[in-house]
Amino acid sequence: MTQPSPNGAQEAETIRPLTVGEVEAMLRAAAPPQLAESWDSNQLICGDPDDPVHSILLAVDPVAAVVDEAIARGANMVITHHPLYLRGTDHVSAIDPKGRVAHRLIRAGIALANAHTTLDAAHGGVASALAARVGLERTRPLQPSPADPSQGIGRVGRLPAPARLRDFAESVAAALPDSAPGLLVGGDPEAVVETVAVSGGAGDSLLEAARAAGADVFLTADLRHHPASEHLEAGRPYLLCGTHWATEWVGLPPLAAGLEAAAAARGHRLRTHVSQIVTDPWALRLSTGS
Ligand SMILES: [Zn+2]
Repeated sequence: MTQPSPNGAQEAETIRPLTVGEVEAMLRAAAPPQLAESWDSNQLICGDPDDPVHSILLAVDPVAAVVDEAIARGANMVITHHPLYLRGTDHVSAIDPKGRVAHRLIRAGIALANAHTTLDAAHGGVASALAARVGLERTRPLQPSPADPSQGIGRVGRLPAPARLRDFAESVAAALPDSAPGLLVGGDPEAVVETVAVSGGAGDSLLEAARAAGADVFLTADLRHHPASEHLEAGRPYLLCGTHWATEWVGLPPLAAGLEAAAAARGHRLRTHVSQIVTDPWALRLSTGS
């Protein structure tokens, strides 16, 4: 996602680069802090706000493989969806995987920032990107933010035309990046659906909101047996369960494009790359039985 410099490569080299602090401000504009859930963490996790940023790697998870990629690519900054220390910490020593992530990034001079529920809720963020990928029109937030009801967690909207659940599920599967677990379908595959709710990541807590919104089908991830089973016993919405990584990854390309555009508007050249590394915990799916 590199845009040609309007001034030519040679001149671009002489332009003062963006700083970590400026990129963080652009990130806050794309994923406003007031949209954060109260329990969440969305911030600059490590790095000096005065350090220069020429290139950014975007990823869902701040894990070792992503640090490897950031170092290999020579990135100055990593922006992840998930925080490194959601519940806080009393140490950053390299005695555990998270401390090693912090140490390796700092040693390599790479800043780390994250936008979690702020990006879930934002205009153009995870939920809105997921809705757009699966073809929803006339969308509204599934759970409007008290700070700005035009934004919020999840989206609900309509398909351009009614479709069989099976056909819609196939189009969703094709629209999401692939990882081992794939996409699970709950409900009658031959039923006709039109109103669709979506929420990237773990969506158990939004089952009732999706029903109250009149959704025929709810696309989310991480659904557990009992909530899903008990929900389907009571009828629609039917369920599409993707993976946490795939349903949130879709928010990264629009964020990367938005950051490049914001940098260009300020006269800076910023290179971004969206990591293709699958950071779902699951490496392989085997069919069971004979
Ligand atoms: Zn998540």
